[in-house]
Amino acid sequence: MVGVLALQGDVREHLAALAECDVIARPVRRPSEIDDINALVIPGGESTTMSKLAQTFEVFDPIHKRIAEGMPAYGSCAGMIMLADTVLDGREDQRSFGGINMTVRRNAFGRQVDSFEEPVDFNGESFPAVFIRAPWVESVGENVDVLGTIASGKAEGRIVAVRQGHLLATSFHPELTGDLRVHRLFVEMVAEHVG
Ligand code: GLN
Repeated sequence: MVGVLALQGDVREHLAALAECDVIARPVRRPSEIDDINALVIPGGESTTMSKLAQTFEVFDPIHKRIAEGMPAYGSCAGMIMLADTVLDGREDQRSFGGINMTVRRNAFGRQVDSFEEPVDFNGESFPAVFIRAPWVESVGENVDVLGTIASGKAEGRIVAVRQGHLLATSFHPELTGDLRVHRLFVEMVAEHVG
């Protein structure tokens, strides 16, 4: 059972992508629902709002704890920010669940660049990536595998997909493109974890 954090953001698109991967997925927004899931997807949206709502709905601490205990999680865009140990250009009161030993910069591609599509090298393959006011990974610490970088252009080489053990994050939104490779990788990670 994979939960999609349903406080804000593109929840429906992740639910649809997971359903296509033949996974039982459901939206979660209450503390009791966090107990029932084996894994969590944190959608794209707005990380400052998500941070605030997670505290208001009292799911911040339970999710933080589950992630720290090893529950697999995947975050796209705002979800990547929520999984970062360190956030640059965030709001002062913004909190992340953390878990991935990385520093991400919010709205890193420039505020004027609202959204764009750009091929990314993901896991050794080309991936059509959609970016919407996206963060990039400024730096990674030990034990973080870089899975994806921008393939060309001004931001060439910038890190946009990472994995650390049970945690996966992308700056871009595979849930919006119908390309299931990132979700399939996550489902494999979940399957490994639950045995
Ligand atoms: N800029 C947003 C944030 O900081 C992320 C945008 C997105 O998820 N598409 O949370």
